[in-house]
Amino acid sequence: PKYVYDFTEGNKDLKDLLGGKGANLAEMTNLGLPVPPGFTITAEACRHYLRHGGTPDGLEEEIGEHLAVLEARMGKRLGQADDPLLVSVRSGAKFSMPGMMETVLDIGLNDDSVLGLAKQSGNDRFAWDSYRRLIQMFGKTVLGIDGELFEDAMDELKGERYDTDLDAPDLQRVVETFKGIVRERAGRDFPADPREQMDLAVRAVFDSWNAPRAILYRRQERIPADLGTAVNIVAMVFGNMGPDSGTGVAFTRDPGSGRQGVYGDYLRNAQGEDVVAGIRNTVPLQELETINPGAYRELLDIMATLERHYRDLCDIEFTIERGKLWMLQTRVGKRTAAAAFCMATQLVDEGLIDMDEAVTRVTGDQLAQLMFPRFAATAGNRRLTTGMNASPGAAAGRAVFSSERAVELATRGEAVILVRRETNPDDLAGMIAAHGVLTSRGGKTSHAAVVARGMGKTCVCGAEELEVDPHARRFTAPGGVVVDEGDVISIDGGTGAVYLGEVPVTASPVAKYFEGEPAGDELVRAVDRIMRHADSARRLAVRANADTPEDADRARRFGAQGIGLCRTEHMFLGERRRLVEDLILATTPEARQAALDALEPLQTGDFTGIFTAMRGLPVTIRLIDPPLHEFLPDLTDLAVKVALAGDRAGDRPGVRTEDGADERDRRLLDAVKRLHEQNPMLGLRGVRLGLTIPGLFAMQVRAIAAAARRVEGARAEIMMPLVGAVQELEIVRDEAERILAEAGVAAAIGTMIEVPRAALTAGQIAEAAEFFSFGTNDLTQMTWGFSRDDVESAFFGAYLDLGVFGVSPFESIDREGVGRLMRTAVEEGRRTRPGLKLGICGEHGGDPDSVHFCHEIGLDYVSCSPFRIPVARLEAGRAAL
Ligand code: PEP
Ligand code: MG
Repeated sequence: PKYVYDFTEGNKDLKDLLGGKGANLAEMTNLGLPVPPGFTITAEACRHYLRHGGTPDGLEEEIGEHLAVLEARMGKRLGQADDPLLVSVRSGAKFSMPGMMETVLDIGLNDDSVLGLAKQSGNDRFAWDSYRRLIQMFGKTVLGIDGELFEDAMDELKGERYDTDLDAPDLQRVVETFKGIVRERAGRDFPADPREQMDLAVRAVFDSWNAPRAILYRRQERIPADLGTAVNIVAMVFGNMGPDSGTGVAFTRDPGSGRQGVYGDYLRNAQGEDVVAGIRNTVPLQELETINPGAYRELLDIMATLERHYRDLCDIEFTIERGKLWMLQTRVGKRTAAAAFCMATQLVDEGLIDMDEAVTRVTGDQLAQLMFPRFAATAGNRRLTTGMNASPGAAAGRAVFSSERAVELATRGEAVILVRRETNPDDLAGMIAAHGVLTSRGGKTSHAAVVARGMGKTCVCGAEELEVDPHARRFTAPGGVVVDEGDVISIDGGTGAVYLGEVPVTASPVAKYFEGEPAGDELVRAVDRIMRHADSARRLAVRANADTPEDADRARRFGAQGIGLCRTEHMFLGERRRLVEDLILATTPEARQAALDALEPLQTGDFTGIFTAMRGLPVTIRLIDPPLHEFLPDLTDLAVKVALAGDRAGDRPGVRTEDGADERDRRLLDAVKRLHEQNPMLGLRGVRLGLTIPGLFAMQVRAIAAAARRVEGARAEIMMPLVGAVQELEIVRDEAERILAEAGVAAAIGTMIEVPRAALTAGQIAEAAEFFSFGTNDLTQMTWGFSRDDVESAFFGAYLDLGVFGVSPFESIDREGVGRLMRTAVEEGRRTRPGLKLGICGEHGGDPDSVHFCHEIGLDYVSCSPFRIPVARLEAGRAAL
């Protein structure tokens, strides 16, 4: 393959091969903009290098050929003693990874060519400054020497002076010192051969793909680990040639608001890394108008050209060498979520893009960010630490250190932040009760992070500087600040910051808009326009996972077209637990029926509430799913309690507590032991319960029928969980149909597809099901054989590091595995029953990437938590465009 492309050979669509920087440098070159000549070594060469530990055959020669062309064009050779060509060696991956990988400037200088550069430029100071920069960057990046050694040596020489105050003899001394550092630390001399410098720098850039910070960044940004980076070799232009030179960065619009204008910074007599490193103060770009009016006008022209060409906000890096402007980089610029929406509609109004394109220019993740509440101002609060921004939003409340305490204070109406080292499923009640969750351990796929995101709850995780002591109910922050239970803290899920005290929080105007407030400011109007267009474009319907009338109501206001999953087990908690216990403890059919009879009116009330809230939209009710022991007390707790009660009875024979609790506890303990399973998620749950506990499903179906009769226009759909074989479904369906017929209520009966066998036998199952809903939580668990409750803490981090997957399959559908089962089920199900309705109700239903997949395989709807509905609507629209 061809491994090297001249800038004149590439274009902006070759990012896979040339990386973002290389592709855009080629694009600008072909637009006729002033780009220094150069060439790009492909990411494919990098992948080869990383895989085999060496460059591919022929690469050196190919580089040599392109270098010769570059030298001919510039009329001088790399490192030529009397007039050297110098080059920069710059990383540039497909996805921008700002500052994560390496760059080496001024390649080609040595003890001879520095003199040539001095003579040609007529500027000794500049030549020696460039040389010391090269040794410094090369030493650090290529030879792996601690960069501080160079900085310290430089600082020592500088004393109180600025960089620019150092004269040529000063810098000559710096060069000697730096060469000494290299010799001492790398055990070799700084290489004088220009081509050796270049080749080593190329390898160092390849290697920097796997630098720890780059790996971490990719994990956070979900960038695949195996892409590799391209390398750009560019003829050097110099911003540090004197006061008529300089370097700067600019945006074609304000990346914070999207508004047009001149946004950027300029630094005189400096090279690019000085701007980023903040060594000296930059001036606003507008001042360039007085410094160099010609270059300023040309720059504004180029920015306008770029915006018209890319039809989007661009950011650029430029250098001015003795008054002449050079473009060093451009790309479609990063922007805030708010700017993305505003800008998309501005570009429509400016005639650069149409509404279809505007919808594709924004993402569900950006929309989600805009819906979270935010801190009004943090200035008055002490920042304790910064952890990982695991789930966006802003929350303030009293620190609590246990789930119980969170629930206790929350029921009293207090806002609380649950603080744990890490969370586990036992903390769920506390997480639900809390305004926010803060953990000192675990990353973005930790239990706390995943669950909080699912709930739309603010979460900061992995705040490792905090020492959390759950027993003493306090944590200690850096500087010895101690936060005790009850002290107020504030956490920012967007930045990961943790503050002492209450930072005032304001609701997001975008969330208010979805709640029904009229569109007000520019941002909300932009969101409104884009949502309307996405809704008109999308083919997927969007439903909600909701089990309470309140959630159902919010879901409907957020645009849900029905409920795709109402988990009925949530209706068996709280005070009703005792009734479930009665059901489990029943030893006679009469006792069991009595327990069911007690539950039925409560369930009827539940369903009535939800049907009422949904005002005639379809409601898919799933019959009870989890293993019954989840409703019983913990085995150990109960065993201890019973043992203690036994001791007391032994002390005073014949004494029983007044309410007879001892007897009940003993029977409960028996039941817990009897129902105990090694793998409850693979045990007696879902349809298996329906088939083995007589009357349980029937009670639920009767309650649904009764509620449907009560509420005018109610549309019930009854869904069986965990079906693996059509026979299971047939049995429970027949019973359900009998009950519905008796009640004179029509309801569709369908099934979840969440056991791999169900997906594989979907053709048969569709005989008995009017609809399928993919339960991708269980389907992922069972397809991978990963326990959905434990896996995140155990080895997911390692798997992400190792690149087994780039993102947790519980967050985003694993297209090749789980997705293949889904495709099979869709095809075979529809073959049996052409009108089969298909949806998804696992967590993936609100995940942007998974929504696109569901669109691709032809589902009818996605169902997700109410808060994710706008995201799913938008992504469904984007998928269709
Ligand atoms: C699923 O398994 O994807 C599902 C929606 O059911 P639950 O999460 O309740 O097991
Ligand atoms: Mg399930």
